[in-house]
Amino acid sequence: MQWLKKKWNFRDLLMKNRLLIATVVSVLLGIGLGVIVRDHGALSSLDTFYFGFPGEILMRMLKLIILPLIVSSIITGVASLKSEVSGLIGLRAIGYYFLTTILATILGIILVITIKPGGSVSTEDIDRFGTSQNVSMVDAMLDLIRNMFPENLVQACFQQYKTKREEIVLGGSNATSPSSVSHRNSLQGDSSIDYRVVGSYSDGINILGLIVFCFVFGSVIGNMGERGRTLVDFFEALNEATMRVVQIIMCYMPIGILFLIAAKIIAVDDWSIFTKLGLYMATVLSGLAIHGLLVLPVLYAVVVRKNPYAFAWGMTQAILTSLMISSSSATLPVTLKCVEENNGVDKRITRFMLPVGATINMDGTALYEAIAAIFIAQLNNYPLTIGQIITISITSTAASIGAAGIPSAGLVTMMIVLTAVGLPANDLPLILSVDWLLDRFRTVINVLGDAYGAGIVEKLSESELDQTSSPMPDYAEHG
Ligand code: ASP
Repeated sequence: MQWLKKKWNFRDLLMKNRLLIATVVSVLLGIGLGVIVRDHGALSSLDTFYFGFPGEILMRMLKLIILPLIVSSIITGVASLKSEVSGLIGLRAIGYYFLTTILATILGIILVITIKPGGSVSTEDIDRFGTSQNVSMVDAMLDLIRNMFPENLVQACFQQYKTKREEIVLGGSNATSPSSVSHRNSLQGDSSIDYRVVGSYSDGINILGLIVFCFVFGSVIGNMGERGRTLVDFFEALNEATMRVVQIIMCYMPIGILFLIAAKIIAVDDWSIFTKLGLYMATVLSGLAIHGLLVLPVLYAVVVRKNPYAFAWGMTQAILTSLMISSSSATLPVTLKCVEENNGVDKRITRFMLPVGATINMDGTALYEAIAAIFIAQLNNYPLTIGQIITISITSTAASIGAAGIPSAGLVTMMIVLTAVGLPANDLPLILSVDWLLDRFRTVINVLGDAYGAGIVEKLSESELDQTSSPMPDYAEHG
């Protein structure tokens, strides 16, 4: 009898975790398939491209669901709370994001200065030089704020605002248009060159703009009483429907992941770079490991007084997904499910904290940017003053906030950090060669940071949450 009971329990466990098990199996199969095809398949680049097609479809599905998910999650999350409470929770969330990102940056700086990975690289046998343009931190930060207030809500669903500096040829036409303002250059410190800032739109969903709008909109309809009830009901139904679609997408996930990882393994042609940049990679990976396995869990254990590793275990599906797709935004549907269903965090917290976190809270990216910037300085024998190191920590934090939750976004915002301390941006192609791997691990830490944050802010907001009874439906009840 006892034996039979045990057998059933085991079967229950398998059934409950079937998606997770399928994902783990698909990762292993994908790695195996990738190695076999790379060694024996002799695929052309075109063949490799087609080989990755099922993985591409998974990415498209996950990106597709981001828009309805973010809009409905934030509006329902905020509408279910009184505006003072949502404001307070928002402040706590920002405080947590800021604290953990700064901690990650400081950790990165300590590690890179102690390990000195740049000193160990022999610069003759690696191709270091490419070209890149400088990016000003001021412009990047102003763009971030501009994007918080989109001019057009529909356009925000597929485009974001971006400015760039254009050099003005002195003595030439100095005319400025309404979207372009000329000012003396402070970036390169050369007062004889003048620049103008030219605004344009680039492709990509303006998540920050949508978040700000949905936050305000959700809080307004939540406070409208009976008059706003229809809208609240509408967004709650939309949210539940979206999560059901997520459930369907997750059934396809193992197949997509198998081909994503296999195609990546086939596509990487220079594996020797891993040995050449071994110490640099080890520095980044150990920093990420310390932050994810020690700093965040200790913070969680101190505040929540629960086992942080049990919490992390509940996040396994999201961790694997982010490791495979290198995008915290595209992992968001899985993160939401894991935090709510496996870790039981209050939906009024998760539904607005997780979308916001996936967009602005990137501990892994901040840690990586600080390490990479100082690594480039070491590579060029460029001595850094204390002031410059402080600048790197501030700009890495800012650059991680500005980075989108998409693959290799951190590498793009690296330009801000390098420019701020006058480091050569032309070493970026070097770190790009191993970025596809480091990006995966820093995305895992980004996702884990958001999840722990939801648990911590829930604990800190216990008394406020108790005062408002939860009107929110449970996905699991319907699923
Ligand atoms: N890929 C990371 C993310 O989506 C961002 C980065 O490139 O660091 O969280």
